[in-house]
Amino acid sequence: MTQNIVKVAVPGPFLSPMDYDLPADLSPQTLQPGMRVRVPFRAKSQLGLVMALADHSDVPEHKRKAVEAVLDEQPLLSSTDQQFWQWLSHYYHQPIGEVVATALPKRLRQGEPATPAGTTAWRLTQAGLAAEADISPRAHQQTALWQQLKKTESDPMTAQALNQVLTNWRPALKRFEKQGWVETVQVSCLAGQRPATKPHQTNPILNPEQQAAVDQVDRVAQSGEFGAFLLEGVTGSGKTEAYLGMIERVIERGRQALVLVPEIGLTPQTVARFEAYLGQPVAVMHSGLNDSERHCAWSAVRQGDVAVLLGTRSALFTPFQNLGLCILDEEHDLSFKQQDGVRYSARDALVRRAHLEQVPVVLGSATPSLESLRNADLGRYQSLHLTQRAAGASMPTLKLLDVRGAAETAGVSDALMTAMEAHLNAGHQVLLFLNRRGFAPVMMCHDCGWQAQCADCDANMTWHAASRLLKCHHCNAQSPPPSACPNCGSVHFAKIGQGTEQLEAAMRERFPDKSLLRIDRDTTRLKGQMQKLTDQARAGDADILIGTQMLAKGHHFPKVTLVGMIDLDQGLFSCDYRAAERMAQLVIQVAGRAGRGEQAGEVLIQTHHPQHPLLTRLVERGYGPFAEAALREREAADLPPFSHQILIRAESVEAGAAEAFLKAVKNGLNSARMPKQPSETGAFEWPDQRLWAAGPVVAPMMRRQKRWRYQLLLQGDHRGRLHSWLAQVESQFYTHPLARKVRWSIDVDPQEMV
Ligand code: ADP
Ligand code: ZN
Ligand code: ZN
Repeated sequence: MTQNIVKVAVPGPFLSPMDYDLPADLSPQTLQPGMRVRVPFRAKSQLGLVMALADHSDVPEHKRKAVEAVLDEQPLLSSTDQQFWQWLSHYYHQPIGEVVATALPKRLRQGEPATPAGTTAWRLTQAGLAAEADISPRAHQQTALWQQLKKTESDPMTAQALNQVLTNWRPALKRFEKQGWVETVQVSCLAGQRPATKPHQTNPILNPEQQAAVDQVDRVAQSGEFGAFLLEGVTGSGKTEAYLGMIERVIERGRQALVLVPEIGLTPQTVARFEAYLGQPVAVMHSGLNDSERHCAWSAVRQGDVAVLLGTRSALFTPFQNLGLCILDEEHDLSFKQQDGVRYSARDALVRRAHLEQVPVVLGSATPSLESLRNADLGRYQSLHLTQRAAGASMPTLKLLDVRGAAETAGVSDALMTAMEAHLNAGHQVLLFLNRRGFAPVMMCHDCGWQAQCADCDANMTWHAASRLLKCHHCNAQSPPPSACPNCGSVHFAKIGQGTEQLEAAMRERFPDKSLLRIDRDTTRLKGQMQKLTDQARAGDADILIGTQMLAKGHHFPKVTLVGMIDLDQGLFSCDYRAAERMAQLVIQVAGRAGRGEQAGEVLIQTHHPQHPLLTRLVERGYGPFAEAALREREAADLPPFSHQILIRAESVEAGAAEAFLKAVKNGLNSARMPKQPSETGAFEWPDQRLWAAGPVVAPMMRRQKRWRYQLLLQGDHRGRLHSWLAQVESQFYTHPLARKVRWSIDVDPQEMV
């Protein structure tokens, strides 16, 4: 049978690939799955990815069109990569064309060649090497350029690399070219983007726990099998060095490693640390890259030009020449979950990818998610432990500060203030953590109680003193404050609650001779600013650091000895069942910034609920015992990870449409039948109480950006059955008349119910 039907993934709201005819002048051998094609689609020419060839189509012949052009000579993806993208589409119930659109760099979606053109670089010719004496000592630019090119004789320099070390070098280069002293060569696009790597440093000797972790992972890597590891390492235990040890082994054998880190963790420091340890350049991929940089990194990894890819969530999709190891750091971090478009968990998908590739995967954290701890309990993940801080530092001590009725300044109790004085007087740094930016979260009329609310969202406007604006933190709305209360005309307003701006102002007043840095979304909006501020913080240039959770993650500030947490109580009484887990992770991560240097660290946590069992357990016994108790609570309530959830969301400008749509979805689900699955106990019963849909209900934030929001929760204790239940009816959602009025989405394993 000839395979003359081409199944093509085209972006759009349809679950499966579209069928096209193979043009007569093409043989099925020249067109393979994993190649890009141009296809006619809705009166336009669209780029799509061939997913399969088939000998049969359900689309009648007169409705089918032919493939217009084939863009690749070789598939862009291996068959394992193709399986992985397919799996992602199925498991997360996302259209395959949307998965492809998310996974492929923009340049490739625009039809550019798989391998981008190289970059120009220069090196000295034989004549050039001998030309030193011909350069006048007064021609400073020429001398500098010559010396630079001589130094990197074997490594041609790109314009970017020259810019890093010289200024105004172009006229000198022109002259050298005229003299025949330099020649141009084409180097990989990656070389054009990165400064020359620093020489291989002497690496620290791994401690026995780090070494044991490296050995265990390496044993699996050598066996050529899959294995998942949960690396539980306390803050400052040197997880990064352990990863680097693992990577070093794998790349020695000529294989590659994929390392995913949270968005905020991918700093130039991290990259430099990797390159210095491994003694070679690594490719990076994050949201700050431009289209050509992304294309370049993608192709360098795919061709095996570089051994390590260090990236954020979306680097997950990059094809590798010879993948040998996957690592994901801070595995509990929410930034690994894509919350819009194609919703997926990069953590869970990475484990799947490693399984398809038959390579080990390491998930690391000081505060593992309850899901991963459960997987470790079940033996799906092997546990690795780093229980000591590396480099001799000791763990900080945690203490609750009862602030009920306590005297305070801008939310800082006198007890915390006294502790701050002691640490500051000893010449140490203090970090204050407050997870709320702006000056005050509520602006209220003092006479009638009116509050400034966002017109488009179900939320208060936050007062920002520096810009003198009320801002909504859920949409981009901002407005000047009212001159008089819109309700009663009073001009007396109260600003209630504290944000980081206010905390900063109060601390400046209280400690006028100390220097202070505030790190939050408002102070780091400009490109490079985050880097600048954290560099200053690390160098010890500021005595007091104030920050939101941006400051909590991964940073190494060796001079911080006191961490004060101003207000965590909101996390204790949330309607989201994951709030306690998140709060505990935040506490331990923020606390982990204390005492990483020579001096021991102290952590003071202000609370109005000093007897709260969760808090006391966490503070007195640590994250492990906290997590055990939290898991038992989840089990008793039949919540994930002891059951599985899928959240269907809908929102609409028109009141009622979103809810009506979800009601229709629910009706569809209720009329579905579970496919009869043969099992030892016989076919499954249906309907049954182990699989249900709750709702639709209004979302916790009922309105956002002018839209009314609803959700429908599907839950079941058998993952496969839950998914096949949805899969039976989901195609109806796309064609439902209300689907045009409603923005809707499917969120598998939802992390946030907002
Ligand atoms: P984590 O990510 O586990 O919080 P880091 O990887 O940031 O910890 O390591 C903390 C510090 O300890 C870093 O400065 C690191 O260079 C250092 N370090 C890690 N391992 C060793 C070791 N074996 N010997 C000496 N110093 C180490
Ligand atoms: Zn009023
Ligand atoms: Zn808003």
